[in-house]
Amino acid sequence: MSRISFNRKRVKLKKLLGIRGRLVLVALIMVIPLMLERARSLEDTRATQIAAASHEYQKIAEHSAASQREVVSSVEAVMKSSAYVYALGTDAGQPCAILRASLHVELPWIRTLSIADKNGIIQCSTLPSMVGLDLSDRDYIKRATLTRQFVLSDYLFSRATQQPAVIAAYPVAAIDSTSEATVVAGLNLNWMSRVMNNLGGRPGVTAELVDSNGVVLAAPDDLASTVTHPLDDKTLLPDIIKHEAATNAQSGALTHTSSDGHRKTVSFARIPGTDARLVVRIDETAVTSAINREIRSAYFQLCFVVLIVLLGALVIAEGLIVKPIRAVTATAVRFGRGDRAARAVRKELPAEFVPLARAFNAMAAQLGQRERELLASNSRLTVMASVDVVSGLANRRGFQSRFDFEWLKAEQNEADLALLMVDVDHFKQFNDNYGHPEGDACLGQLGAALDRIAGGAAGFAARYGGEEFCVLLPGSSAAQAQDIGNAIRTAVQDLAMPHGASSHRIVTVSVGVARVRPNGTLRPGDLIEAADVALYEAKHRGRNAVVVHGQRDQRDPPVSLAS
Ligand code: GH3
Ligand code: MG
Ligand code: MG
Repeated sequence: MSRISFNRKRVKLKKLLGIRGRLVLVALIMVIPLMLERARSLEDTRATQIAAASHEYQKIAEHSAASQREVVSSVEAVMKSSAYVYALGTDAGQPCAILRASLHVELPWIRTLSIADKNGIIQCSTLPSMVGLDLSDRDYIKRATLTRQFVLSDYLFSRATQQPAVIAAYPVAAIDSTSEATVVAGLNLNWMSRVMNNLGGRPGVTAELVDSNGVVLAAPDDLASTVTHPLDDKTLLPDIIKHEAATNAQSGALTHTSSDGHRKTVSFARIPGTDARLVVRIDETAVTSAINREIRSAYFQLCFVVLIVLLGALVIAEGLIVKPIRAVTATAVRFGRGDRAARAVRKELPAEFVPLARAFNAMAAQLGQRERELLASNSRLTVMASVDVVSGLANRRGFQSRFDFEWLKAEQNEADLALLMVDVDHFKQFNDNYGHPEGDACLGQLGAALDRIAGGAAGFAARYGGEEFCVLLPGSSAAQAQDIGNAIRTAVQDLAMPHGASSHRIVTVSVGVARVRPNGTLRPGDLIEAADVALYEAKHRGRNAVVVHGQRDQRDPPVSLAS
């Protein structure tokens, strides 16, 4: 990754982690544990509800198994009493007659009741067509004879009625050990199914009474079509048998994945004394769909609450934090743009921001004060930078800026502007004779005189450089300027500063005068040049003289001084 894109990503991340982002993060940190806890409790609820449903159906299965057992028990009781009657009849020599006379089969689930002799041939029956039928090969007859106990057959086709049936067999030997006959009862599957109707009509739930081969013997009305057919799930019965063997229990519950991949909770109960089992299957997906719906809506509610919390966090961040920060920032921006009066309004800010506003205001006040001091010291420096300490007049720099200003003013006003160039005569020799400090003192006195005279004439005196001075006279004509020049020359003479090397024995000055009316064709340098030329002329005339540029002054004839 290039450095630039890395930096860009950092900037984006920083933006995201702004105050709003951080507040949302805080809100999430607060809400996420609650969400997780809620999700956990919802999942717990789901598991509890499934367990409760499974438990409920297990109870129903057991209850139905008990009902079936009652059916079987009542069948067994009827057969037992028939065996008893048969045994009595045998003693009387007319077993069938006595049995027929005593038989009042009122139980709806017994279709036929017959007696088979020791060879399995039916001797007497409530259905006369059955007499003579050979049942000796039937497994239930064999088992009943062998075990001397009540036996319920698997699903089979009745030889008498050619209809699907379950046959019960009861050996008379259980009553009279000398008898080898067997009481045989054909059971009504419809009636057995009816007993199971309390298990029907439940979405995702199937209940079936199956024989030892997994053939459905009875089922509630909604599953009536499955009766006489093997269970639709071939692996279910083996699983149940395995479970029975492992738990050594006649009833129980297990989880089974059917061939279509659906997870099912299976409750089963064996009908005591038989190989028949009542099997109740609960399709978890179907049963839990309502629970899932509830849980889904709970999750939606949860998401809604989280959304509200996050929006709340954003609104709070905007109103309580971002807005005050914006207000302080706007004040700082105003201050930065030069509005030195800009101050943060504390009473509009939350308490936490008051120290920030106070600190900002204090800083602003201090900065304002510093700026004022800086401006003052700057102007002092500017003045200092424009003043010549030896003469006490403006220096060359100060003169230049004033000269530029006066030039412009004169140009605008179409007024005259005069300039005097004043040079000390033989100053080198003065220095040589009296020393530099004395020379400086002389320059100081000259400066004071020039300042006084220039000030009186609304002019401006400056030290042009070395022992050379200049006087700017705005609005002065050449004659007025010449007068000021003479006043200067005279004033210096009057100072009577001794100068042994001068023919006058005192310090004198030469003055060059020039005047212009500034316009677009002239430059300020032209005026200086002209004044310089006039000064040169004054020196040429013998010094201690005033010369106007381009004009011979009769009032001030050249002074003949020995140079
Ligand atoms: P002239 O009459 O032709 O002007 O002769 P001059 O000697 O005055 O002229 P020159 O240009 O030969 O000498 C100028 C002297 O001014 C040289 C220097 O020692 C002196 N000078 C310049 N600036 C200062 C200063 O600040 N202090 C002192 N004491 N002397 C200065
Ligand atoms: Mg000079
Ligand atoms: Mg000089």
